[in-house]
Amino acid sequence: MLVDAGVSQPAELAPDAFRRVFREWLGDNLPPKWTDRPFPQNWPPGDDDAEAVLISREWHQRLYEGGWIAPGWPREHGGLGLPLSLRMVMTEELARAKAPAPVGFQGIDILGPALIAYGTPGQRSRFLPEILSANELWCQGYSEPEAGSDLASLKTRAVREGDHYVVNGQKVWTSYGNRADWCFLLVRTGPADSGKRGISFVLTPMSAKGIEWRPIRQITGERHFGELFLQDVHIPCENLVGAENQGWLVATHSLAHERLLSGNVAAIRSRMDALIDLATRRGATVAARRSIATLEARLLGVHHLQTRALDLASAGASDFAWWASAVKLASTELRQDIAAVATEILGGSAVLGDHPEGEAWRYELLDARAATIYAGTSEIQRTIIAEHGLGLPQG
Ligand SMILES: Cc1cc2nc3c(=O)[nH]c(=O)nc-3n(C[C@H](O)[C@H](O)[C@H](O)COP(=O)(O)OP(=O)(O)OC[C@H]3O[C@@H](n4cnc5c(N)ncnc54)[C@H](O)[C@@H]3O)c2cc1C
Repeated sequence: MLVDAGVSQPAELAPDAFRRVFREWLGDNLPPKWTDRPFPQNWPPGDDDAEAVLISREWHQRLYEGGWIAPGWPREHGGLGLPLSLRMVMTEELARAKAPAPVGFQGIDILGPALIAYGTPGQRSRFLPEILSANELWCQGYSEPEAGSDLASLKTRAVREGDHYVVNGQKVWTSYGNRADWCFLLVRTGPADSGKRGISFVLTPMSAKGIEWRPIRQITGERHFGELFLQDVHIPCENLVGAENQGWLVATHSLAHERLLSGNVAAIRSRMDALIDLATRRGATVAARRSIATLEARLLGVHHLQTRALDLASAGASDFAWWASAVKLASTELRQDIAAVATEILGGSAVLGDHPEGEAWRYELLDARAATIYAGTSEIQRTIIAEHGLGLPQG
């Protein structure tokens, strides 16, 4: 525990002191064999790799027992109550150490903050401890076949009957639905044309009668997301989070922070370092060297952009959200370009994935595509920047 390390108020440490404490803890708790890769994972593995899933579970457990699993949650709910600046230090150190991704990140990063802000005391005491310990894993049921970027047009219907809702519809791209115990769902409780004002946020066990999850194979070959079918699923009204028809507020509560963190500049720094290392060992053409220099200049720019966005977020500035969009846009597109240059240098071995380094970059080239889609596509980030940041007329 942090208290054992002599740190009872980590949120009050200066960034350098905090970094030392966390780095030391990582040194003691993260086995080198779990970090044997050129750069850190972005997500927990799919079920195809059973050993990696076990590591992801064990890593969650170690972070939990060490007191580090929920850096942003308030202390009274079992978190560390860290300001964004120290959360970013943790993110940097985890990336530097090439730590695995903890298995319960969706509960920790997405549902937990929403429950803390909008849940009833009963919902918080029922669900938060199980999220922290990963005794219960969660998946996110927002997107539908015809409602992704335009999420407010979602159609999955929930009709109130006595003390429960009856839910019918379909979700898609539901990550880790195969291993989740519960799902946080967006459903339509208002009229069909009610848009954001007719959506509710509800919680359902994945074992409920009428729920079926079917895997979809991704471009990387994994099967971590899938389709979620809901047929006459009964959800108790006590599982409604926030008020009926106010689910949009609950769902979007932490979205800008999620975008800022999903940009994860530290994880991109580690990829850039791996690219520089690769080019140094293998040699690079003049064209590749120029590309790498340009990528480095972009990365330095993104780093400063993120610092500015963090300052705005910490100051509670109202225009923070579009800065977060700028960080996400710039960093996720940069990540793709880094992978493309590494793949060019590796040539055939990246395409074939015939040794660990080639395999890691092959996976990265494909996986980096997803980063410009989830948490809002690049086009949507551009729209936010154009309209909310720059005040350009709507297209
Ligand atoms: C790896 C991964 C994991 C995911 N996990 C989950 C999950 O666990 N739960 C969940 O609910 N969802 C999940 N998603 C879904 C994700 O949120 C959606 O893919 C995303 O919101 C985009 O929606 P869509 O796929 O329907 O694309 P669409 O919205 O159909 O967009 C298709 C294309 O049109 C563009 N476009 C759409 N509207 C506009 C516009 N107004 N202006 C300009 N261009 C536009 C988009 O940018 C995109 O290029 C995941 C996605 C990925 C890639």
